[in-house]
Amino acid sequence: MAVTDPYAVLGVPRDATPDQIKSAYRKLARQYHPDVNPDDPGAEEKFKEVSEAYSILSDSDKKARFDRYGVTDDQPGAGGAGDFMGGGGFGDIFEAFFGAAGGGAQRNRRPGYREGDDLRAETVVTLQEVLSGVERTLRYKRERVCRTCSGNGTADGAVPSTCPTCKGQGVVVRVAQTLLGSMRTQTTCPTCQGSGQQITDACRTCHGRKTEVSDAEVSITIPPGVESGMTLRAGGQGNDGLGGGPTGDLYVVVHVADDQRFDREGQTLRTAVDLTFAQAAMGDSLEIEGLDGLIEVGVPAGTQPGDVLRVRGEGLPRLQGSTRGDLLVEANIVVPTKLNDAQQALLKEFAEVSGEPVPKGHNKEGFLGGLFKKKK
Ligand SMILES: [Zn+2]
Ligand SMILES: [Zn+2]
Repeated sequence: MAVTDPYAVLGVPRDATPDQIKSAYRKLARQYHPDVNPDDPGAEEKFKEVSEAYSILSDSDKKARFDRYGVTDDQPGAGGAGDFMGGGGFGDIFEAFFGAAGGGAQRNRRPGYREGDDLRAETVVTLQEVLSGVERTLRYKRERVCRTCSGNGTADGAVPSTCPTCKGQGVVVRVAQTLLGSMRTQTTCPTCQGSGQQITDACRTCHGRKTEVSDAEVSITIPPGVESGMTLRAGGQGNDGLGGGPTGDLYVVVHVADDQRFDREGQTLRTAVDLTFAQAAMGDSLEIEGLDGLIEVGVPAGTQPGDVLRVRGEGLPRLQGSTRGDLLVEANIVVPTKLNDAQQALLKEFAEVSGEPVPKGHNKEGFLGGLFKKKK
């Protein structure tokens, strides 16, 4: 078979973009795929023709040659479509193009085949649990194969009969004649909703659904260093598949709860500590609450407001790691709000000794407040 006009075969204009060409090819390939049309030998011929046309138009050299000279140099039965198939046959190319989006009924023609859905769950961990890692037991609902009918959906538990409408294909192809030629559309079989099977006497437990909802429990190990939004996969813990279809997975999204004491930035924890003027000026050694117990923080002499003290190894570990990041402690220097006479006298003396201006004081209810009132 030699394609004489690949543009006509794909039904695209001469100035079609590569995307338009690819999209037209995919649509036609899906329509004429032999797996979708097992009883139509013409479809296979058409499929090969479409594939060959695409092999020309998707190859810049071949496309340029055709555009200029109007000929294709593909030998009948060789090159072109054959090469493009890579020897893998129709199945592989079909999988490659439609595998992800096709869904159970299209991907697999076995009647009753269905892949189990993936499920999603969420769990919350504390910062302490981020530090240590934690084992969580999650309880959730999942669809299991119905035990009454062994997943056949029938009252007697036998394998259901083949759907007479689609003959077990799960899909029906409609052909409509239009001005542009015959248009083929493939839709899910309306009789069996794509299962390819017909159940006349349904199982009393699952009412023909073939699955039943059951309580499930799974233990998952949340590793140290986990970050909010990370997702863990529990393989095979989702809904059961049917007709040989695989069981889905359970995806667990981890949220790290906010902590009143610490802000987190990756492996680094941040907190703040109140210091007196004397502690900041003279330096001190403090015990503060760390994530896992009391820790000692050295305050250097001359610490200024907003200075950040770094405590190494008191932060969080890297994901699944053991070495910990740092704890950053911001110094908050607290100015006294009330001073008694003795404190005022000492501060004045301190200022004098330091050669600083001696504060006169200003406080509407304090020692000068009284003088203002007397003057009035
Ligand atoms: Zn059907
Ligand atoms: Zn059942």
